[in-house]
Amino acid sequence: MVVQRLIRAVIMGPPGSGKGTVSGRIIKTFGLQHISSGDILRANIEEKTELGLLMKSCIDQGQLVPDAIMSRIILSNLRRIDHSGWLLDGFPRTVPQAEALDQAYVIDTVINLDVPFQTIKERLTSRWTHIASGRVYNTDFNPPKVPGLDNITGEPLVQRDDDKPETVTRRLKSYETQTEPVLEYYRSKGVLESFSGTETNKIWPHVEAFLHRKFSSLSQRAA
Ligand code: AMP
Repeated sequence: MVVQRLIRAVIMGPPGSGKGTVSGRIIKTFGLQHISSGDILRANIEEKTELGLLMKSCIDQGQLVPDAIMSRIILSNLRRIDHSGWLLDGFPRTVPQAEALDQAYVIDTVINLDVPFQTIKERLTSRWTHIASGRVYNTDFNPPKVPGLDNITGEPLVQRDDDKPETVTRRLKSYETQTEPVLEYYRSKGVLESFSGTETNKIWPHVEAFLHRKFSSLSQRAA
């Protein structure tokens, strides 16, 4: 009898690397549960729990939530869903978090989206928004009819703070400093799988093929 062994995976990649899109496709294709640390934090903040308030102050100040709190929240969420396979997104962000995760579970694979920072900068900084409606344009592949103006109202478009070149550079820099040691940690354990490219649609088939191979080798070993 072939027993489908549960897969426990982590996805990593800088902001703007297409991690959201790739996660969505992995979950749909392989039937994994998705656990996103950012989503869990935002839900706690919305519920205005005591923990939520503490987290909000960290996030508002652009800081990471302390490792002990973060690890506790994620591990308790994982325990609830561990009857099926899962994909962790946004956690671990530090080596102590990776160690806490390791003490509870064996991680089968860590998928790393390796998209050049220059590509991400171009992608994010070409995004312009019409604030009142939320309509988003991209100067490369979805430009407004008149440069700088909304197609419907003719009002001026603005660049959100998050999409301004200096903010994008700062976010990428802090991702690099925080997560490079985590990538190294998983590389030394032999579970890191990096996928390089500049377009999500070209990276995805490689991720998909790799996971198909991974699933079938885990199933065979469990049989
Ligand atoms: P995200 O949506 O993943 O960018 O997360 C939003 C914010 O939540 C981050 O900027 C951090 O302040 C916090 N956060 C998310 N995941 C973690 C984590 N694993 N460790 C610490 N802080 C986190």
